Amino acid sequence: MDAVIRNATLPDGRQGIDVAIAAGRIAAIGPALPVQAALQIDADGDLLTPPFVDAHFHMDATLSYGLPRVNRSGTLLEGIALWGELKPELSQEALVERALQYCDWAVARGLLAIRTHVDVCDERLLAVEALLEVKRRVAPYLDMQLVAFPQDGLLRSPGAFDNLKRAIAMGVDVVGGIPHFERTMADGAESVRLLCEFAADKGLRVDMHCDESDDPLSRHIETLASECNRLGLHGRVAGSHLTSMHSMDNYYVSKLLPLIREAGVAAIANPLINITLQGRHDTYPKRRGMTRVPELMAAGVDVAFGHDCVMDPWYSLGSGDMLEVAHMGLHVAQMTGQQAMLACFDAVTSTPARILGLEGYGIAEGCNADLVLLDAGSPVEAIRLRAARRMVMRRGRVVAESPRAAARLALPGRPAQVNFRLQRKVPA
Ligand SMILES: [Zn+2]
Repeated sequence: MDAVIRNATLPDGRQGIDVAIAAGRIAAIGPALPVQAALQIDADGDLLTPPFVDAHFHMDATLSYGLPRVNRSGTLLEGIALWGELKPELSQEALVERALQYCDWAVARGLLAIRTHVDVCDERLLAVEALLEVKRRVAPYLDMQLVAFPQDGLLRSPGAFDNLKRAIAMGVDVVGGIPHFERTMADGAESVRLLCEFAADKGLRVDMHCDESDDPLSRHIETLASECNRLGLHGRVAGSHLTSMHSMDNYYVSKLLPLIREAGVAAIANPLINITLQGRHDTYPKRRGMTRVPELMAAGVDVAFGHDCVMDPWYSLGSGDMLEVAHMGLHVAQMTGQQAMLACFDAVTSTPARILGLEGYGIAEGCNADLVLLDAGSPVEAIRLRAARRMVMRRGRVVAESPRAAARLALPGRPAQVNFRLQRKVPA
């Protein structure tokens, strides 16, 4: 064996588990494995999980915060306008450099797979070339999946569909869209139809920015699901954001949820961004804007939480921490029951892995030895603490380490050090 991790707790609650690793894969898993290995890691009862997966990100814009100026209003539309100002000034080297820096952050956070949209509304396709280059360079330690994203509208922006097709021919993996940004509802629906037909023809996955609006009548998710049914795209399509569902009429949603389920369309909410960008036209009460996460889950729809933005024209915060994303999602959706909190952990790990179609993901014999050891005893504790990543492993090799979170205390009669773990066991 190349490595063995001793005495781990797994996300499903199993405790005292050893994981043996050979040739980049999990070779054996169980209590007290009788194996020897060059590398021995003592998990000390901590949580060992497959890596975090971000189902929705914008790597072409990340870490550009303040270029060429900051977003004064903090709104979605000023963000899009600002991105338009920045686009002509982008250089390939600077974009690659920023993306690589973000990937370093991601790896340190145990985030080893990212689906990123890349804007194709630029004749030069400079961002596409840059991110394809980044994808090649990070491949040994991070899986990147690219989505051809017509930011300025497929029909609204001249040449966008041709650019999108060129991007796919260059090696971009997934077909994107933004129907709610087209000039009319009819154009939005037409863009969904064109893009789904193109994806079906090419055998590709689809992931659209869909209904990222507070307008309850923005119903492109209905068209997306029905096109998915018509073209047999089940299991290959995701609707990102779906924030209009927050504001929709309940009766209409009772009809929509089974359609989404039947079409096998996944939903990707972006809690950090939805809670800050939606509801901006409201006074009070002010809408949260995030889609109906627990209701979609209860209907049997795969729901992931994405990060969407880190230090870009739309969002000035973030650091690649999917536990922060899960933490926000849990709060915004009021998913505070035990099972609901576990579902929030799944929404940044196993569920997006399924949406991306990652092969060899998981903790089982034969899976890739891609693992994260967290300074926490359970998934819920990991979310509560945004737990330190004690160790991040990619294909059996340790690629990042962090110290456990602790503080030195100087209080009379109290311990010299404090961590933030609860020492007693909480019943499940
Ligand atoms: Zn997005």
